[in-house]
Amino acid sequence: MSTLKLIGTNLLTALVTAAVTSVFWLFAFNAGSVEPGAPAQEVKGQPKAPPQPQIFTGPTGLVIPVAGMRPEDLIDTYKQARAGGARVHDAIDIMAPEGRPVVAAAPGKVEKLFFSKGGGGITAYVRSPDSRYVFYYAHLRDYAPGLREGQILKQGDPIGTVGVTGNANPAGPHLHFAIHRMARGETWHEGAPVNPYPLLVGSGEAR
Ligand SMILES: [Zn+2]
Repeated sequence: MSTLKLIGTNLLTALVTAAVTSVFWLFAFNAGSVEPGAPAQEVKGQPKAPPQPQIFTGPTGLVIPVAGMRPEDLIDTYKQARAGGARVHDAIDIMAPEGRPVVAAAPGKVEKLFFSKGGGGITAYVRSPDSRYVFYYAHLRDYAPGLREGQILKQGDPIGTVGVTGNANPAGPHLHFAIHRMARGETWHEGAPVNPYPLLVGSGEAR
């Protein structure tokens, strides 16, 4: 009698378990099958734009000027020798695929768009709102559509794309990014270099 009761209890447990499991899968299946049928954000008749890489802000508030790059992706190349050791780099190179968006690290006004065949190639010089700094973006493949001198840029606004123009190695597309501290009256190609690396990554050693 008690054995029969035990079997009965086990059978009941098994049945309940089976039922609960079925209900679970029923819900899971329905939830999964309903969602794709609700095109809340899709615009009909237009191809989806490819997803743009995210823009990251470093701990000191500067934006990493190449989309998709995080502070931890950067390497401090500020003191690397250039031109056979005759001079130092005074900038950092942010290696990234050609065509990747280059964006304003900080707000400012486009002071000069300049082409230097044997140097920075297609470049942009952006002056900070307080006039004390110039941010320099070089080796661009191209400028953002409509970019012009005198234009006011918000932080993160597009400047152009990563390229290999000027004296960049064609095998290593990158953004050459420099920050110059400007004395009163100094113009776009002057100023004293400041290491962008700690400013972008956040150790704050540049000051
Ligand atoms: Zn460089």
